Amino acid sequence: MSKRVYIAATGGTIAMRRTPSGWATEPGFLAELLAGLPELQAPEMPAYDLHEYEPLLDSSNMTPRDWWRIAQDIEEHYDDYDGFVVLHGTDTMAYTASALPFFLEGLGKPVIVTGSQIPLCEVRNDARANLLASLLIAAHEPIPEVCLFFGDKLLRGCRAVKVDADGLSAFDSPNYPVLGEAGIAIEIHWNRVRPAPSPNTRFRVREVDEVAIGALRLFPGIPAAFVQNVLRPPLKGLVLEAYGVGNGPDRDPAFLAALAEATARGVVIVDTTQCLRGRVALGDYAVGTALANTGVVSGFDLTAEAALAKLYYLFSVGLPPEEVKRQMGRDLRGELTVG
Ligand code: ASP
Repeated sequence: MSKRVYIAATGGTIAMRRTPSGWATEPGFLAELLAGLPELQAPEMPAYDLHEYEPLLDSSNMTPRDWWRIAQDIEEHYDDYDGFVVLHGTDTMAYTASALPFFLEGLGKPVIVTGSQIPLCEVRNDARANLLASLLIAAHEPIPEVCLFFGDKLLRGCRAVKVDADGLSAFDSPNYPVLGEAGIAIEIHWNRVRPAPSPNTRFRVREVDEVAIGALRLFPGIPAAFVQNVLRPPLKGLVLEAYGVGNGPDRDPAFLAALAEATARGVVIVDTTQCLRGRVALGDYAVGTALANTGVVSGFDLTAEAALAKLYYLFSVGLPPEEVKRQMGRDLRGELTVG
């Protein structure tokens, strides 16, 4: 029997056309384009159903409620398809690909998030290749993970980051090797793929709560008052994008006091690195130790995107701050390297 793939089209460049105010989505346009693609009728291609979201979004407009909408859509159709392709804008694709693995609990089928830098309607585009490879992977490779496919790389979703605003190889996962490559053949590195959940694991989707979570990138001279303002209630969690191995200034007592006062109130502050590659090690420098002493927790080698998504997840599940802190240091979906 031919394989079946569900395509959730949320928007993005892949589905856009030129308008007087720039690239924009238009309802029905993607379905029209797909109907005109003869490759989709090839015998190795899966049968597909396309669900075009209303409204189709430029992914800059995505919110955590949209993550939930995608997760619910997958849940509703979970039993009827071999795999899922989520068409998405590239701007916040790494955030969605980081969030879905957490909210899709017990996932046992491939969910491939993809998009393109050039719309499918253009003569020269990367949309066609990304779409076709994603459909083939979703249909024929039983990877029990949320992945991001782009260029020629299959990445773990919760390790992916957008690294290029213009290039066609726009995503990478600097702290985890690629799960697969689309060269002459599509090759999956199965030893890097997470094991399938045990047969008695139930697939379920968690509702994404509108928790007050934030992110703050440190910069030289950051005023303590600014940090204090960011950390005000109702904020529950903060991704602190710090320097190098997680360092920040320790010669400004007001800055450290702002962090300590917030963590004492139960705000979970996760220390990540602004660097593309590598991990946080708060004990390496005195400045890092000073941060750790304020109650900030290490984000190890989490990307800032995955740290943010994980905070949303853990608070949405309803865990108290102490447990959120503990879980931040555990590997739940392959998002961080322990040890
Ligand atoms: N602004 C677009 C989006 O994220 C960019 C893209 O898809 O490449 O929806």
